[in-house]
Order: sequence, then structure tokens, then C-alpha cells
Amino acid sequence: MRYRELGRTGLRVSQLCFGALTIGPLQRNLSPEEGSAVLLRALELGVNFVDTAEIYDTYDHIRLALERFPGRGQVVVATKSYAYTREGMLASLERAQRGLGQEVVPIFLLHEQESSHTLRGHWPALEVLLEAKEAGIVQAVGISTHHVPAVLAATAIPEIDVISPLINRTGIGIQGGGREDMLAAIAKAAREGKGIYAMKPLGGGHLLGEWAASLDYLLQIDEIHSIAVGMKSVAEVESNVAFFQGRRDLPAPAAATRRLHIEYWCTGCGSCVSACPNGSLALHNGRAVVAMPEECVYCGYCGASCPEFAIKVI
Ligand code: SF4
Ligand code: SF4
Repeated sequence: MRYRELGRTGLRVSQLCFGALTIGPLQRNLSPEEGSAVLLRALELGVNFVDTAEIYDTYDHIRLALERFPGRGQVVVATKSYAYTREGMLASLERAQRGLGQEVVPIFLLHEQESSHTLRGHWPALEVLLEAKEAGIVQAVGISTHHVPAVLAATAIPEIDVISPLINRTGIGIQGGGREDMLAAIAKAAREGKGIYAMKPLGGGHLLGEWAASLDYLLQIDEIHSIAVGMKSVAEVESNVAFFQGRRDLPAPAAATRRLHIEYWCTGCGSCVSACPNGSLALHNGRAVVAMPEECVYCGYCGASCPEFAIKVI
């Protein structure tokens, strides 16, 4: 496994980051026991970087794996919160500490920023993270985003250490510009010393059929220090680790077909439409519909926002 400095954070992370969205209730819905076994295998094989978020509901999975891993002190967990108030972020920080079973949360990000405007709106929450960094509770702070303008806005903020942008070979899911715009923004951010770890390298599953080419594409971009890959089985972990080690002798993960399912009891409240970072959903005749399926990256955020449990990735 190759390790890289994550910008100027002082953190050294594996080039393969374990994306924990996949094992949790928004996607594969493995139990904490099952999910921790998948993560533990990755840790045993040299992965020391784990990406999660409060909304993913995988703190229990991660805590169980860390409890069983002798080298847990070397593991860098990054989490994210949608909190935008001081009180909200204090609560998120406490949830992460309790959920992960550790005082220090290495990386804490503002989840899904869109522009300088949303960053301004989240400033009270960012201040809490900066205070936590000062106190040694958080080691690096930053943002995650699908949006090119947010990468550029975060680059201009000295307090931001880490950016997790959406980038992949076909540009699927990138907002506020195309693939080349995002690459240029990432290059600029890296030049400014930001730690960069890519999300959605496989377009949320759309590119699983081109798994090797998609990963190779990102591995060749020097400004990307790590790549978060969602893995939901030990076999997928072993295939991805082998690939990142330069081996090509294990099979690619099966290219499972994913789609969004909307139940008949959808009330048309619109919550999922607002929650979708990619504008994939719309309301039509009082129901949610997938208006732009090509933009959906199967993140599952719509499902998490639905009060009726009427929409999910299957
Ligand atoms: S429709 Fe749902 S799963 Fe697809 S990108 Fe939007 S929030 Fe994510
Ligand atoms: S959040 Fe749920 S109930 Fe509301 S429009 Fe979306 S699917 Fe329908």
C-alpha cells in the first residue's frame, strides 16, 4: 500500500481510503458486526484511512473494527456533518467521539458544501471545528463537495486543511462545472497545501463496469492524495487493495445494477428533492420522480431525508 501526506495536515494516509457509506443503512445495510468485519480486513491489509459521515450511520461499524485492530492509533477517520450552527456542530462532534469510541476525531468536514455562500452560512459550525482543532480533539478540518465553486472557495480559506471533492473519469455527478473544471480546482487547492481525497471514483456505481480504468485514471493524478472507494465485502476489499498495490490478479468487484425505488406511499413532501446534491429528483403530480437519472450517484441522501421511508437505493 502506498501512503501519501494529506496536504499540510501532518497526516499520512493510505492512497486507498475505505468509503464507509456502502456498508451502512443508506446502501448495503450491513449490521455493525458484518460491516466491521469488512473494514477490519481493509485495516489488516494496510488501509489506514476511513471516510464516513454522521448521515451514513456507520460509527458503530467503525468503532467495532477499531476495537479489534491492534494498530488503531494509526487509523485516520474522517467524518462530516451538515451542522451549520455552533450548537449543531458541538452535538455532531460529541456524537462522533461517542460513536467512534475515541476522544480524537482526526478529520472533520462540513458535509456537502456548494459555494462560498454555503461556507459563509456554515461559519459558526466551522468555528467549533477550529476550536476543537486548537484543543487537539480534531487534527484537520475541511469540506466535502460535489461542486467546483466550493473547491475554489475552500481553497481561498486558510483555515481549511482538507477537501474531499467528487471526481471521476467521466465527470458524472460533478456540479457547477465539468470534469476539467474540477481537475483545475483540485490542482489549485493542492498547490495551496490542501489535503485532497477524492470521492465517487466509480460514480456511485455507474462506473463499476470500468473499475480498473476508473481507478487508474485517478491514481495518475498526483494532486489527489487518496481515493475513497466504497467497499461492502471482504472480496471487494481484497480486489481494491490488490489494485492499489499494483497487482492485477484479482477479479474486479461485480458490477451490480443500482437504481432508485420510490414507494407508492410517497406524499410529495419534496424533502428528497431538496436533499439531493445533484438535482436528480423532481416533483411531478404530487410525487417524487427521478428526473435526471444520469446525474444520480446513488449516495442515498434522499432516502435519509424522507420522513416516509419512501425512497431508497436498491
Ligand atoms: S437521487 Fe438520491 S441517491 Fe441519487 S444523487 Fe440524489 S440524493 Fe443521491
Ligand atoms: S421525501 Fe419521501 S415522501 Fe417526500 S417526496 Fe421524497 S420520497 Fe416522497
